[in-house]
Amino acid sequence: MRGISVLNGRYAVTMDMYPLQSKEFNRIYKFYDHLREGRFTTTKCNDCGVRSFPPRVICPECLSENLEWVDLPTEGTVKVVTEEVVGVPLGFENPLIHALIDLEGQLTHFARIINCQTGELKEGDRVKMAVFPVDPVPVDGKRGEFVEMERVFYAFEKVK
Ligand SMILES: [Zn+2]
Repeated sequence: MRGISVLNGRYAVTMDMYPLQSKEFNRIYKFYDHLREGRFTTTKCNDCGVRSFPPRVICPECLSENLEWVDLPTEGTVKVVTEEVVGVPLGFENPLIHALIDLEGQLTHFARIINCQTGELKEGDRVKMAVFPVDPVPVDGKRGEFVEMERVFYAFEKVK
């Protein structure tokens, strides 16, 4: 079945929390290509040196388009944990856990935590990036047919 499984085929793009990731739809599509390679990346400006997150197509500091892709750490240390156990958004399961993560001093990142039970994750725990497949979306193919666009997204999980 095409579309988002939780909607049983009643695909509604406004309820889809994941971006379209191919070159035709997204100018930072390389971010998703890198995820597929197990890399967590962002952009750095070659003119002024500012590194941004999330990745940009234009430097927010000097407006240059001369950017390059750089790797970020894929492991970090938990600083704060939040756990939602009721009222989580459609498409997510209980518990919905997020954490503020220190990525080796390079970036403080607020990320979803997967493969984790309520109360399991604590401040100071080590976490690593985990890439997972996302339901594909139907997009217009070249000859008027629908083709399925494969997608991935990332979260973090506890290092065990
Ligand atoms: Zn710049």
